[in-house]
Amino acid sequence: MIGYYLHKVMGYFTRLKECAKCEAGHDPADHDCRRNYFGSAKFMEADMSSELVNRNPSLDRDNVQISTTFADDDASTISTIRKDALHEIEKWSDLNHATGCFVKAIDKVPSLRDQGTIDDLEYMFSIAIRTHKDDVEGVRKVSWLSFLTVLVTTALAVRSGVVL
Ligand SMILES: [Zn+2]
Repeated sequence: MIGYYLHKVMGYFTRLKECAKCEAGHDPADHDCRRNYFGSAKFMEADMSSELVNRNPSLDRDNVQISTTFADDDASTISTIRKDALHEIEKWSDLNHATGCFVKAIDKVPSLRDQGTIDDLEYMFSIAIRTHKDDVEGVRKVSWLSFLTVLVTTALAVRSGVVL
């Protein structure tokens, strides 16, 4: 886990589900066994993320609480982090995940399924985010303006028979 402001490592953990010696029949007590995870592989990331945020000795030592995480859009991870937390935790998306969600959403609109249109909107959305850092309302306004511009341009082109 890397801090947002200072870009320093705030903690790391590993989850190992297998051990070659244990697999070969050795007792875990007779070697330096690193196997530390016995649950479902599907839940591994969520479990480790929650430990980083909620049971992190470095954060406890410095009396620090994580209030916002930047993570991918895996619902089970943020759900587990929030379930284990004793306080509110906000989840933000990074630029790649935010534009990915945006593209996924506009891909559900049949009239926008043209790849050129999707690429244009994705580009404009990423510019809106970059130019309006920490300004959610600004991103929203510019995104809507871009979206409407593409819709009007597409509608005018269809009406006049122009192929874009
Ligand atoms: Zn082992």
